[in-house]
Amino acid sequence: MAGGARHGSCHCGGVTFAAEAPLGDVIACHCSQCRRTSGHVWAGSMVARAQFRLLAAAPLRWFRSSPRVDRGFCQDCGASLFWQPVDGAEICVAAGALDAPTGLTLAEHWHREDAGDYYSPEGPPPPPAGARPERLSCACLCGACAFDLPGPAGAITACHCTQCRKLSGHYSASFDADESRLVWRRRAALKEYATPGGGCRGFCSDCGSSLWFRSAAGEFSVEAGSVTGPTGGRLAEHIFVASRGDYYRIDDGLPQSGRW
Ligand SMILES: [Zn+2]
Ligand SMILES: [Zn+2]
Ligand SMILES: [Zn+2]
Repeated sequence: MAGGARHGSCHCGGVTFAAEAPLGDVIACHCSQCRRTSGHVWAGSMVARAQFRLLAAAPLRWFRSSPRVDRGFCQDCGASLFWQPVDGAEICVAAGALDAPTGLTLAEHWHREDAGDYYSPEGPPPPPAGARPERLSCACLCGACAFDLPGPAGAITACHCTQCRKLSGHYSASFDADESRLVWRRRAALKEYATPGGGCRGFCSDCGSSLWFRSAAGEFSVEAGSVTGPTGGRLAEHIFVASRGDYYRIDDGLPQSGRW
């Protein structure tokens, strides 16, 4: 896809934007900050600030995640949308937020050394780690939300559904947990977003980090990227791959299902 504007939005539609070509190749970032905000891995495409326009921005909120970087998210649905150097001439827009087809290609992995223990940036996940933590500590990026739960994480599921892609900025990875065994340490900024299917997603309203999902049937799962340190888990499968973004391939050899 050559010229023309790409449009994108958060999941609830409160934030919409347009980016004029050229958009850069998609970069997947495995740094701990991107992993915490997205809940797994964040991916984005760089565009000149002059080529970028916010069309609707009422719920857009910025969080200064480091002295020279702001991250933009939707305060209504928690979608991780933008990464922007404070004085920069460019803005990185979440690949998962872009309307299909993006016509883009994931071409680079940044901070591979900071990838979680449960997946590899490319190829099959590493063998099950020696670490089998009995407790997992989870937190958002700003620290306003934090909870503990029994570990290890075990089987981790990657979900490529449109909802997960819009909210995370790329796609999600989470593991089942017993909600009654969560011990909250801080939750003042916790916000819940009711999803169209009757489920609910928990995120931090101060920094936008994705934390957990509760289905309409009450099944509860925790975002793997929220775990501090080893998860003791391993990516096991990909679901809803029929909704996968057009800018990446799944190359880790794990089972895939069109729905679940
Ligand atoms: Zn939203
Ligand atoms: Zn936070
Ligand atoms: Zn999903």
